Order: sequence, then structure tokens, then C-alpha cells
Amino acid sequence: MHQPVGTRVVFGCGTRRRIPDELARMGLRHVLLVGGDDPLRQVGDELAAALGNTLAARIIEVAQHVPAAAARHAVEVAVRAGVDGVVTIGGGSSTGLAKTVALETGLPVLAVPTTYAGSEMTDIWGRTESADKKTGRDPRVRPRTVVYDVELTLGMPARLTGISGLNALAHCVEAAYDSEADPVTVVLAAEGARALGAALGAAVDDGRNLAARSETLYGAWLAGTALGSARMGVHHRLCHVLGGTFGLPHAETHAVVLPFAVAFNAVAAAPALARIGGVLPGRDGVAATLWDLGRRVGAPASLAELGLGPADAIRAAEALAAHPGPNPRPVDRCGAHDLLSAALEGTRPPRAA
Ligand code: NAD
Repeated sequence: MHQPVGTRVVFGCGTRRRIPDELARMGLRHVLLVGGDDPLRQVGDELAAALGNTLAARIIEVAQHVPAAAARHAVEVAVRAGVDGVVTIGGGSSTGLAKTVALETGLPVLAVPTTYAGSEMTDIWGRTESADKKTGRDPRVRPRTVVYDVELTLGMPARLTGISGLNALAHCVEAAYDSEADPVTVVLAAEGARALGAALGAAVDDGRNLAARSETLYGAWLAGTALGSARMGVHHRLCHVLGGTFGLPHAETHAVVLPFAVAFNAVAAAPALARIGGVLPGRDGVAATLWDLGRRVGAPASLAELGLGPADAIRAAEALAAHPGPNPRPVDRCGAHDLLSAALEGTRPPRAA
């Protein structure tokens, strides 16, 4: 069964200038604008000015993993201002805060993503209270309209470009090996991986390379669509634990864990990984190819580099084994510990993986 995503997507250069028209198309007249904190302050302020009288309220500060207090505050602001919709500009943190408002109020969201995280294309919401990150799926949180403006990504620093692109690649890989993914989603995942694998290095080398930026954002769009249509496996589950409970930064964590999650699933997901391997440059197997890409784009290699200690890694492995979620290879305690120690150390996975 394939359920097409009902999101309207506007993709191109300078598309942010079409946002007022897109809001009118949605019938929205009083919106809450979320996002546009440093380093996106100018972009956010320009959008606020372009919205004119349509702007009823604004929240500038956002934080990763949507702290519950911030979510409550955002809902209060939206209700007090009597808004009829939410516009979000920024990475997954901005989109995430807008989604929690949608979850509580049913308000429609127009998203303007500026990273490759992909949240804008999914029905997944998240919220964190006392180091406990909860996520769920609800059709109300999926943005009705997404405006991808390649120009907004031109200023993205090289490091963020690399890790955010690898975050998107992780969506493609895990969608491709979800045993319940439908054929259309698998095609989207493979095409997203191809685009990201082809262009990410060039986008890191020269952030103003419009062709590379465009191809990378296109790949991220497909990756987000795949994320929104498939079940994620051990990679996303582990990143969820590391982010929600240990406060590790989102995209960096994805960038580190991905080659080791792929190595973990190498045998159980061999056909799906062969498909992904076929669209990525590299001849040493998907895990090593992804590890090499990480070094190529300047991503951190190990969880130790992100500040995770050996004792935390053991706790994370226990948490992962307790609630592993769906995955091609069953995740038992022994496997979870092996996966965590490989990612903690960060050594290149062997050729066959
Ligand atoms: P982020 O939104 O926290 O942004 C990271 C930093 O990059 C911020 O300081 C931001 O201001 C800056 N930034 C964003 N775009 C920029 C640009 N174009 N140029 C320069 N700086 C820019 O990070 P993220 O990785 O995009 O999102 C992470 C969050 O999104 C996490 O909380 C994660 O759980 C969530 N997420 C959710 C889903 C979902 O489907 N629900 C999917 C992916 C990520």
C-alpha cells in the first residue's frame, strides 16, 4: 500500500518570495512565525516583513528536540494571538516546534526548511521532558505546504551541510531496508541517496555552488518523504536515545552512527543495501562508503568525539535493547553493545559490511 503524501511542495531559487501567495492559497490571514534565530536572523526578519499584516505573533528562539516547556509556551502564544496557521523557517528544531503547535491546536503549517533534516515532509512529532524524548505520528502535524528555497541554503556552513546531508542519507538508508516500505517509497529513498551522494561533497566544498545546493536539497526533500512514509530502524532509534537522553546534537549523531548501523544490518538487509550501494560512489560496501563520505564532508567520526563516555554508551545500549523498534536484524543486548562500542570508537567498518 502506498499512501501519497498530501503536502504541496514549491521548490526552486527565490521561492520564499512566493510565501505570501502560498498563505493566501491556504486561506491563512493571521499566522504565527516560528524560527529565524541566529544565524538565520536576517532571513527570519525579511520573512516577517514580507508577511506584513498577516504576521500576528512570532517566536524566534528554538531548541533541538522540542523541550516541553517551549512547546507549551508556543501553544499559548498561538492561542492568545488567535492565529489561523503557523509558518516555520529554519531547521528541524523550528519545524518541530511548529509541529507541536499543530498537534495541540490542529492549525495548518507552512514550512520553509533551511537544513536537510527532512522533518517538513513527515507526520512525526517529538517533544522532550526531563531527558525523556517522546515521538509519535499524527497527520495533523505534517505541513500542508513546504517551500524549498535553494538560496536559503547557500549560507549554510560546511560542517552543518555535511552532517545535515548525512542525516538525510540516514532516512534514505533506513527507508530502503524497512521490510514494510512500499515500492514507491523505496524508489524515492534510492533517488534521494543518489542525489545526496552525488552532490553533498561539492556543496561542502563550495557552499555557493547552486547546482550542488539544488541537488542536495532535492535529495533531502526525497529523504524526508521517505522518512515520512516508512518505519525507521535501529539507526534512528539509537539516535533518538542519544539525543533525547544524553543530549547529543541531532545531525552530528546521525552522521556518526549511520555507517555503524549499516554495518550492523549488512547481512540482514543485504538486498536493500545493495540497491543503496549501487547509487553511491564507493566500492568497499555501503558502511565503509558512508564512513568515507563522513570524512570527506568533515563530519565527526565517533560518539566519543561528541562527548559520550563509555559508561553512557553502556546505558544507551541497554536503552536501545529495551526498546529496539523494527529493524532488519533483531537488536539483542549483545548486538546493541557491539553497535554502541563501534560507534563510540569510530573506526572505519570493514570492507564487506
Ligand atoms: P536545527 O534546526 O537545530 O539547526 C541547527 C543549527 O543550524 C541552528 O543553529 C540553526 O539556526 C542553524 N541553521 C539552520 N539552517 C541554517 C542555514 N541555512 N544556514 C546557517 N545556519 C542554519 O538542526 P536540524 O538538524 O535541522 O534539526 C534537528 C531537530 O529536528 C532535532 O530536534 C530532530 O529531532 C528534529 N527532526 C525531526 C524530524 C521529524 O520528522 N519529526 C526529522 C528530522 C529532524
